[in-house]
Amino acid sequence: MSAERDQRHADRMARKKAVVDAAIARATVSKGLILVLTGNGKGKSSSAFGMVARALGHGMRVAVFQFIKGSGATGEQAYLQRDPLVRWEECGEGFTWETQSRERDIAAARAGWEKARAALADPAVGLVVLDEMTYLFKFGYLELEEVLAALAARPPAQHVVVTGRGAPPALVAAADTVSEIADVKHAFRAGVAAQPGIDQ
Ligand code: ATP
Ligand code: MG
Repeated sequence: MSAERDQRHADRMARKKAVVDAAIARATVSKGLILVLTGNGKGKSSSAFGMVARALGHGMRVAVFQFIKGSGATGEQAYLQRDPLVRWEECGEGFTWETQSRERDIAAARAGWEKARAALADPAVGLVVLDEMTYLFKFGYLELEEVLAALAARPPAQHVVVTGRGAPPALVAAADTVSEIADVKHAFRAGVAAQPGIDQ
């Protein structure tokens, strides 16, 4: 019985391998990608910073723009910005309910965007991360059309990762890969403060 079961499994795996191999063989395009990481669950920025590490492992130059700064630098920032291939810019002054100054927030967002726009025109930069950018559209700090135009005109091999909740449909449409992270559970709601190494 066991031999029969082993054989069935081997046959199934062989069929699966043929399908996967054929799909891999069809994927022959190589190009810079736009990724959007959205949704209410935890893991958007940390995923983006994981890709920063990946890119660095391949010797690529990386630029990170954080549009809404939290209450302190994350562990990834502390660690990754030591690398000379990394440029790490904090563009926002804080969460909007902390600064409570729309004008200052807009000025910081615009200044950050001008720096990010320059990186999006620089073929030496292999990966650009636009962290928490979606909030700029939500609050009306920045025109989505302006960002979409810069994304469309960027160097063809450059990758871009955009994070933030509530990604606008036109950004999702422009992206190559989109992940929506669902909020199934979060320790914060059980009274756990942000933990170094996990949340910051
Ligand atoms: P991370 O930076 O951990 O990948 P994120 O980028 O997906 O999180 P943000 O909305 O940018 O999520 O929030 C960043 C901070 O808020 C992190 O400390 C994270 O743990 C926390 N956080 C994320 N999602 C939730 C949630 N659904 N409830 C409570 N706290 C959250
Ligand atoms: Mg985030």
